[in-house]
Amino acid sequence: MWKGVIEKYREYLPVTKKTPVITISEGNTPLVYSQSLSDITGCSVYLKYEGLNPTGSFKDRGMTMAISKACEDKAKTVICASTGNTSASASAYAAKANLTSVVLVPEGAVALGKLSQALIHGALVLQVEGNFDDAFNLVKEISDKYPITLVNSLNPYRIEGQKTGAFEISDALGTAPDFQVMPVGNAGNITAYWKGYKEYRDAGKIKSLPKMLGFQAEGAAPIVKGHVISKPQTIATAIRIGNPASWKKAEAARDESGGLIGAVSDDEILNAYKLLAQKDGVFVEPASAASVAGLLKLAKKDYFKETKEAKIVCILTGHGLKDPNRAIKTINKPKTIPAKIDRVLKEIGY
Ligand SMILES: *Cc1c(COP(=O)(O)O)cnc(C)c1O
Repeated sequence: MWKGVIEKYREYLPVTKKTPVITISEGNTPLVYSQSLSDITGCSVYLKYEGLNPTGSFKDRGMTMAISKACEDKAKTVICASTGNTSASASAYAAKANLTSVVLVPEGAVALGKLSQALIHGALVLQVEGNFDDAFNLVKEISDKYPITLVNSLNPYRIEGQKTGAFEISDALGTAPDFQVMPVGNAGNITAYWKGYKEYRDAGKIKSLPKMLGFQAEGAAPIVKGHVISKPQTIATAIRIGNPASWKKAEAARDESGGLIGAVSDDEILNAYKLLAQKDGVFVEPASAASVAGLLKLAKKDYFKETKEAKIVCILTGHGLKDPNRAIKTINKPKTIPAKIDRVLKEIGY
């Protein structure tokens, strides 16, 4: 039976026998081979489908650690700012641990599915008149001054849990990939994966390290542009962040690995979003599609020319059902017809 990432990778994590393990069986997500993307790039492309975690995003890997350690430290209340998925995950794990959760989200900028999760799991949900960065500044100040535990990725246990994604990929491939492509928002996840790969190499589990290829949305690309973006804009709400908490660590992952951090437009994101759904049968939220958009952009520039047959893993960070409105907006709404067989046949083309 799969018992979650803490039990599976306990020896690599800062837990002891005394740590109460709060898990909803996160992790163990599939690594799906993509024929369509392999054909386009000339490489072997795999999709790490993190949308299949218990609350529908990779945040669960970090949250099992953050909430378990909060319980060990006798915390009663946890708090986070969120573009949606952190709040969904924090509220679910807090519910399981019988903790109170408080989540601050930017008003009107959180996908419907994510908001519904935080509400049904019983969090105190506050919509802030401002963006993610405003909400983040508030929760940092509150957790500094009051006995409330911050569970954003500034919390080092989040990074510890999230690094297990790198272990799973390495275990599944039997080696590290040559390239890993992923979206970058607050930059905790790229930091976590890089840490995970380095630790697995040091433990002798893998011999090489991947080049880390991160992608931000063009309207929310502070690392690419080299300055804070005060009003970040993109349809990929999960990466709509203008001042990433792990900025420096993301740059270190990029530079140490010989990778890059680039930007993709909303149109490129939506094209990749449709391609994944229609060629691979994999439904992701727009932010996740930023990784595949980046892969396609690099392939077009012949970035992978010298490295045919390379193994590439794209991290698909969150499930498409998180943001159903985006799917319906992207594809035309279904036609309404009378309940008559001749009308159905006519629509099919008979
Ligand atoms: C949180 C999130 C990201 C960004 O991850 P960071 O660690 O903030 O860089 C990307 N995609 C989805 C779906 C997310 O929930």
